[in-house]
Amino acid sequence: MLIDIKFGGICHLDIHQVREGWGEAIFPMVPGHEIAGVVCEVGPGVTKYKVGERVGVGCLVDSCRECESCKAGTALCAGGAVQTCNGIGRDGEPTYGGYATHVVVENFVVRIPDGLSLDVAAPLLCAGITTYAPLKQWGGGPARKVAVVGLGGLGHVGVKIAKALGAEVTVLSPSLRKKDDGLKLGADHYYATSDRRRSRSSPAPST
Ligand SMILES: [Zn+2]
Ligand SMILES: [Zn+2]
Repeated sequence: MLIDIKFGGICHLDIHQVREGWGEAIFPMVPGHEIAGVVCEVGPGVTKYKVGERVGVGCLVDSCRECESCKAGTALCAGGAVQTCNGIGRDGEPTYGGYATHVVVENFVVRIPDGLSLDVAAPLLCAGITTYAPLKQWGGGPARKVAVVGLGGLGHVGVKIAKALGAEVTVLSPSLRKKDDGLKLGADHYYATSDRRRSRSSPAPST
């Protein structure tokens, strides 16, 4: 099905891939794996979605759908899941990501609830999932203490989700530079991992 992309989040992974920081990349490249949009066309084989539905696409667009991991609903396909961008699809063609007007995909698509605007939904498709998954796996919730290392793109989302799950949240950051923001986002505690003299000369965290 064809998705009219309304918003695409910017993730640091996009920059890694463009700079080939994680190995040889496929060019020309269209980065972007935090996609929020509206279904604008469906083919005859599409059964799960209708035209007009608000949907999101994250880091993956396909997998074998037959191995144990796929059947269990995880993203750890034994045959290698297909990345949304800078990947090779099961048809042998490169995949192009969300810094585009449209994307064609049906699997690994999620519905976006009506109460959530598409611009704020987009970053949840990578930063949100990346922090939500371990919090759920390790039982982040009431009566649990969660430490978030660094208040960056993922860290600030992690603070919000951990807090929403009911955990006591502590941010561990190289300096106290973002302490006010961290507390506003819901952190209960905020500590610097370096002393004052060192944190003045340290570069800002890139996370
Ligand atoms: Zn990402
Ligand atoms: Zn699989």
